[in-house]
Amino acid sequence: MSSAGSIDNEELRDLYRELILDHARNPRHFGKLDAATHSAEGINPLCGDKLRLYLRVNDDQVIADAGFEGSGCAISVASASLLTDLVAGVDIKKAVEYVDIVTERLTGTVEDDGQDQRLDKLRALEGVRDYPARVKCATLAWHALRSAINENKAAATTE
Ligand code: ZN
Repeated sequence: MSSAGSIDNEELRDLYRELILDHARNPRHFGKLDAATHSAEGINPLCGDKLRLYLRVNDDQVIADAGFEGSGCAISVASASLLTDLVAGVDIKKAVEYVDIVTERLTGTVEDDGQDQRLDKLRALEGVRDYPARVKCATLAWHALRSAINENKAAATTE
């Protein structure tokens, strides 16, 4: 154990800020998704963030592609961009698990255990825990993802 640890932490914080700004300026998977099977809107009136999330789920219940459109602050857009990057190629059960894990981490009820490396980039957003008003910006896309998946599930079980 050396003092280098604290330096690394500072460097990481800078990296995370860069990561958020990068995703906010150049959001991945931005735009309406063609042939979307699932969609849900997320609105955070406190900040003015408004986005619509699209998923294309295939017959194997895997999210073949994800996209979003809308506008909002850097944190909400970066979060949606990171989300769509993460869930493309993931089955919807796993995606719901990710929603639980990420929202719990962002609200600070659960600590990051570092077990799933696919979630490493999401650490960039965990700084919002120090700013309660920002938590809603960071979790908005994740709530939309949960709604998108649940709505379709409800519709699928009505017969
Ligand atoms: Zn916001």
